[in-house]
Amino acid sequence: MAAMERVLKEFFGYSSFRPFQKEVVAQILKGKDCLVIMATGSGKSICYQLPPLITKKTAIIISPLISLMQDQVMGLQQRGIRAEYMGSSQTDRTVNARAENGEYDVLYMTPERACSISQSFWTALLRRGVSLLAVDEAHCVSEWGHDFRHEYQKLDCLRPFLPKVPFVALTATATDKVRADIVKSLKLQNAFTAISSFDRPNIFYGVKGLSRTTAFKEELAREILTDVEKRGSTIIYCTTIKDVEEVVEALQKAGADARPYHAKMTNKLRTETHRAFSTDELQIVVATVAFGMGIDKPDIRRVIHYGCPKSLEAYYQESGRCGRDGLPSQCWLYYTRGDFAKADFYTAGSTTAARKEAVMQAYMAAQKYCGTVECRRSTLLKYFGEISATENCGNCDNCVRPEGVQYRNFSEEAHLLMTAIKACGGRFGLGVPIDVLRGSMAKKVVSYGFEKSPVHGLGRGKSANWWKSLADQLLVLGYLKEVVRDTFRLISVADKGDQYLWSATNMGVASALMLPLSQEMA
Ligand code: ADP
Ligand code: ZN
Repeated sequence: MAAMERVLKEFFGYSSFRPFQKEVVAQILKGKDCLVIMATGSGKSICYQLPPLITKKTAIIISPLISLMQDQVMGLQQRGIRAEYMGSSQTDRTVNARAENGEYDVLYMTPERACSISQSFWTALLRRGVSLLAVDEAHCVSEWGHDFRHEYQKLDCLRPFLPKVPFVALTATATDKVRADIVKSLKLQNAFTAISSFDRPNIFYGVKGLSRTTAFKEELAREILTDVEKRGSTIIYCTTIKDVEEVVEALQKAGADARPYHAKMTNKLRTETHRAFSTDELQIVVATVAFGMGIDKPDIRRVIHYGCPKSLEAYYQESGRCGRDGLPSQCWLYYTRGDFAKADFYTAGSTTAARKEAVMQAYMAAQKYCGTVECRRSTLLKYFGEISATENCGNCDNCVRPEGVQYRNFSEEAHLLMTAIKACGGRFGLGVPIDVLRGSMAKKVVSYGFEKSPVHGLGRGKSANWWKSLADQLLVLGYLKEVVRDTFRLISVADKGDQYLWSATNMGVASALMLPLSQEMA
């Protein structure tokens, strides 16, 4: 096995393997299928780039984006590795011919290309030898994944053309469901599974909820610019191009050198921004999520999300682009309550009801992350099925709450809210019970007779957002639950809430419910 270390050093200049790399390479050399689930930045690529250099047989890599492939191919070529990519519309015959002839160590292609290529190509290539077929970003096969792609589901069609070639699926994000889908869809046989920890201890996680969109941008600009000690390469992710433009404007107005990056810009401009950012000429890029797929900059110090991301998988991946060098880095998420009404925006592209529901569930998990009062890190890790060693990581906003953040007993308000939700019978979203509490005579309230409820109007003294913020906390703590019907989210009282109400009524005492005062509740 000394050959493995030698090749690693010779081509990549690394003197040792990172966790799991060596094990995965060894299994591939034995011809075994592998499922590699490792965090972004942990070095998955080595797992499929090394075997062809040892066996002198081509490695086929399926990758979703041309830009991603271009970056990787360039990096490999600079290391003296014979790498090339075949795009979906590429008509380059020389690449085809050379590929068939086994002249590449690493050959990238899109899933469309892989599925449409002729059988004779595979036969020819197989004669020269194929070391592995890797499916990068393998979560794309799953409807439950955050980035479902139809063509990924057809990849099992390659199995018959490549008998005995190990299939290697790699992803940075996989919940149990996605993991099972990958194995099933790619027909992985008895796969060797490597799962590394998702924890990124050097990253600080924080969330800020702000109530107004305009103040939002100004506050963002102010914080970014006054935060001198934390300065460093920063990516600000926005959900829409419009947001990108507005945030850039706010930052530039405040005197910052910030540039946009999004799909509507010319290729030339985008490349230039990418270059300036990579060489530290430019510190702040404001971008849609399109920016970053191919970014391999180890010293990004901050990733800021302007608006709630569509899922925790996406959040983990995007925020994970900072601090790859292991030095302290910050991930902040800024949201407004208005974001949560945007679920339609995310479900719009879904074709089936099941897909729609999956998208909604994923979005609700992200929303819960915003509202949680528990450790952000353990919330993220739990979502990925990992139990963290401690409930207090000491490196997120909830674990290092500055003194002065008050906890208060909200048992009375919680009691009111849960009673109102019960009165509405679990058939509505949060808006109706809050209307009831606030004494509204809206059509929906009156037509169901909710104005006769004993709690009608008892919560008049507090704003709708105040009640929503309380509901967030009760959701996180399991007193309330939310289910998705179509794209509607129905709120109801969970067992834990029922017990709470029961003991308050039957024992005559509501036990204290200590919650921190969120910004919206202060
Ligand atoms: P992933 O695909 O898991 O996000 P990459 O394969 O892009 O991660 O690797 C992330 C970074 O780690 C790259 O900069 C790469 O050069 C570096 N790297 C990978 N393996 C090693 C190693 N064994 N020793 C040192 N650095 C490594
Ligand atoms: Zn924490």
